[in-house]
Amino acid sequence: MIDSHTHFIPEQVQQWIEENKTLINAKWIKKNEQTTLLSINDKWAFPLNENFTRTQSFTAAYSSFRKALVSPVPQLFLYDQPVDVTSELVQVYNDALVHLKAKDATFEGLATLSLQSPEQAAKELEQAIQQGLKGAIVGPGFGERTLADSFFDPLFEAANATQAVLFVHPLLHSDPRLNHSKLPNLIGVPWETTIAAANLIVQGVLDRYPNITFLLAHGGGFLPYQIGRMSKGFQSWENEFAKLQRTPLEYAASFYYDSVLWDERTLDYLLEIAGKNQVIPGSDFPFELNDWKIDQHKLNQTPSFL
Ligand SMILES: [Zn+2]
Repeated sequence: MIDSHTHFIPEQVQQWIEENKTLINAKWIKKNEQTTLLSINDKWAFPLNENFTRTQSFTAAYSSFRKALVSPVPQLFLYDQPVDVTSELVQVYNDALVHLKAKDATFEGLATLSLQSPEQAAKELEQAIQQGLKGAIVGPGFGERTLADSFFDPLFEAANATQAVLFVHPLLHSDPRLNHSKLPNLIGVPWETTIAAANLIVQGVLDRYPNITFLLAHGGGFLPYQIGRMSKGFQSWENEFAKLQRTPLEYAASFYYDSVLWDERTLDYLLEIAGKNQVIPGSDFPFELNDWKIDQHKLNQTPSFL
């Protein structure tokens, strides 16, 4: 069984962070005896437990043996760094995933990209695909640009030509109204995916680049739940959406979704909206809110892109 949503920090990447800690403002913050947080540029600190850094953890964590599609952790996207810094880490990260895959067939990998420079990201994606990775993990955009912005066209051209997987994975949302308890994670994370996915639909990106496999994290955020509102809007404001080739439901059924939803009823709803073929097992291991308890057997275990 494939786990499509896991995160990993290879040893080479840990070394790079250590060597460049001043440059990228990396801090290891000891919270208590058991827990050390890793913070990059004072944002999105997370508990750096050994499950992030030991490949053995991935197969030992759950009783059912799994094949894992591993991705870099979003905290290390480094989109706010100068491109030469980001691209250096991208190279180290992607090479390490290529090496991991070659060494152990349990793993498939998704590259990280210098998303703040779509031309550079396109080159990195092409190289990653040539080296056997399935595609890349990307944030929901860069700054105020969502992924649907024409700024990203060079990357999408490359992804379309190579039939790459783009795993849209959010970072924490920074709306000050969410600045309470864990709301940036609880609500902000799925909201970021919702913004990216809705823009990919209404700005026609899915029509322009039909060969890209978009995989949405955490069951697509809130998009599936609001697909009725979108459908009604498309009917009511026909002219606004005249250039689009499909209905919201058809677009929703063209995305792939992981099953990181924590609730069987929500998963059943997603299966109904998107179709069984489009929902694949995922855990978000080893982040704190990972989940593998729901019934994975009703999902697509063997998506064609893997
Ligand atoms: Zn994740």
